[in-house]
Amino acid sequence: MNRVVLASGNPGKLAELRALLAPLGIECISQADLGIAEADEPHDTFVENALAKARHACQASGLPALADDSGVCVAALDGLPGVRSARFAGEPKSDARNNAKLVASLDGIADRRAHYACVMVLMRHAADPEPLVANGTWHGEIIETPRGTGGFGYDAHFFLPEFGCTAAELEPARKNACSHRGIALRRLVALLADARVDRVAVAAVR
Ligand code: IMP
Repeated sequence: MNRVVLASGNPGKLAELRALLAPLGIECISQADLGIAEADEPHDTFVENALAKARHACQASGLPALADDSGVCVAALDGLPGVRSARFAGEPKSDARNNAKLVASLDGIADRRAHYACVMVLMRHAADPEPLVANGTWHGEIIETPRGTGGFGYDAHFFLPEFGCTAAELEPARKNACSHRGIALRRLVALLADARVDRVAVAAVR
């Protein structure tokens, strides 16, 4: 699997995924560069949406596809924005309006706990009955006043007590080292290595 389509049109995500995949020697092509439109994300769980995105990219490209579905889940909001993170404040998608809505939703609420969640899927072809699926989470707190200019989405409001800064204040490599997406991708790579070992073992027995 030397070429994969990245099933996302989000520039922030694509930059992170490319940086994470670069050391693996896998050629990454974004679906937008192949003229593939973004898939619908109608489902209520990250895993279902990630599978739908990967299948859509495989179908349209004929190549293996890597998709992630992710979002921020806020404890005091019963997990919202969750799978609706990208469009929390409606269409068209806007990080600024999403953040304003999130901060307003937490006005006067002391419990600021939140986590980013990511489900990453690797599908070899559109009818793949055994996609690889991995998840990652990253815990923090939502702060009212944004800090930092890096990252994307909710990063400037996502405070990390262990670092004493927001995700938007972390160097990209540091964010990738501990983020929900970084964790999910490293788990997915481990699953891929396991799948290769399984195939070699079967071949040796034959
Ligand atoms: P998706 O492209 O449908 O998976 O939507 C993901 C949305 O979740 C993004 O548009 C952001 O609003 C939010 N999100 C996911 N990961 C991150 C992150 O690492 N930083 C900030 N926001 C994120």
